[in-house]
Amino acid sequence: MKKEFRDLLREKGRKTMPNVLLASAECAPLSKTGGLADVVGTLPKALARLGVDARVITPYHRVIKDKYKDRVEHLFTIRCYLGWRSCYVGIERLILDGVIIYLVDNEQYFGDRIYYGGYPEGEQYSYFCRAVLEAIPLLDFMPDVIHCNDWHTAMLPMLARTQYRGRMQEGMKYLLTIHNIAFQGKFGFDYVQDLLGVDAKYYTSEFMELYGCADYLKAGCVFADRINTVSPSYAEEIKSSYYSEGLDGILNARSAELSGIINGIDTTVFNPRSDPLIPAHYDRAHMKGKAVCKAELQHRMGLDVDPDIPIIAMVTRMTEQKGFDLVASQLDRLVSGRDVEFMLLGSGEPRFEDFMRGAEARHKGRVCAYIGYNEELAHLVYAGADFYLMPSRFEPCGLSQMIAMRYGTVPIVRETGGLRDSVQPYNCFTGEGNGFSFANYNADEMYDTILYALGCGSDKKVMRYLVSHAMEADFSFDLSAEAYARLYLCML
Ligand code: ADP
Repeated sequence: MKKEFRDLLREKGRKTMPNVLLASAECAPLSKTGGLADVVGTLPKALARLGVDARVITPYHRVIKDKYKDRVEHLFTIRCYLGWRSCYVGIERLILDGVIIYLVDNEQYFGDRIYYGGYPEGEQYSYFCRAVLEAIPLLDFMPDVIHCNDWHTAMLPMLARTQYRGRMQEGMKYLLTIHNIAFQGKFGFDYVQDLLGVDAKYYTSEFMELYGCADYLKAGCVFADRINTVSPSYAEEIKSSYYSEGLDGILNARSAELSGIINGIDTTVFNPRSDPLIPAHYDRAHMKGKAVCKAELQHRMGLDVDPDIPIIAMVTRMTEQKGFDLVASQLDRLVSGRDVEFMLLGSGEPRFEDFMRGAEARHKGRVCAYIGYNEELAHLVYAGADFYLMPSRFEPCGLSQMIAMRYGTVPIVRETGGLRDSVQPYNCFTGEGNGFSFANYNADEMYDTILYALGCGSDKKVMRYLVSHAMEADFSFDLSAEAYARLYLCML
């Protein structure tokens, strides 16, 4: 064990690292719609290497049942009340890569969709919080820390500290991780009262009221012992009204308990040296394979096959959050009369999808738009492109830029959230840096930065430098896990 952890344990008068229960709506590879699942799926494995017994509790979604039913063991059945509704709660256990995952089974709430949307989603995850709190004292595990993730589990600290006072293990602490503050779980208070029986005294701006709604994430921010988010820069940004979606008041009030820990990526899955999904392998010292990947990408996607034409790529949800309005406003200007190719893999808002289909038709051989989700193609894009564009309006952490860098694809990003914390802009005087960045959410700034990057990239020596620096960055989850272990220990 690291000396730092030994010292912290001594300071806390403990012999062992804390037990942690991560509560989450999704957990990779069982169920996944976004980055939340990746964090919850990867973190416990990395924590185990530090001696932390971290387990997960998550809904037994249909997608999990279909694939893992034979490996799941039934532990016990209880009932819980959701207002007047008496609900079935089955607690099952699955062990995956050595991590114990408790699954909450209820077919009414966890059917075909991970998220029902709107008010039904409020009922789904109010049920989940209630079921988790009823199940915890019956588990074969005594957590020291309940690690809540996003609004779906953000009611746990409030319920535990009010309705379950005295029924939970003494001294149990609550950490709330905000993966994206844009989603808060906002409902009418009558509805929340009907589901969870929350006392009306908590429907004030000091507790869970925000702009006339009962806000689950706000309740979590008020009652959790510590709050963190997925990058240090985003932790700062969400204290300002531009980024906070209304929560800057509470987050400023609790700024001493708010911190940021940047996520990592699964460096065994994303590894150009061994990735089975790319046509040739490479590493920093042997880069020939990247050229093979580039030629394959150009050939497969109908782009002009030419090693000297740089490819700028995006693998993304096509939304405003990801800066797609900037891209749509500049793409024609960028590719017209210039030797550059643009490769997009993504899906999202119909207006952006239509724009990309049109751009592909207008710039045959120079623009490719693959509209849809395709994991295999994503790996080829990361490996085959030269530059990776991510001009996000806001970005809590962002994984794509880290994946791109791991494959030696130089990032061009807006300086926000996790992008700011993972990409160091190139300095042409000192040669430092591993990418390019611009400060303001502005189409011209993005355009100028892309031109600057293309200019630097046309110098083969500079490009070799940048690629090498990008691939050198350490984005393994072990660093994040250490920061989480430190945070859990500080909470005790
Ligand atoms: P988000 O805000 O969408 O979670 P991230 O950058 O954190 O953004 O993570 C997105 C992940 O989803 C990355 O691993 C990216 O490669 C993957 N991804 C996004 N869109 C697609 C797509 N159309 N096909 C394949 N993978 C995709």
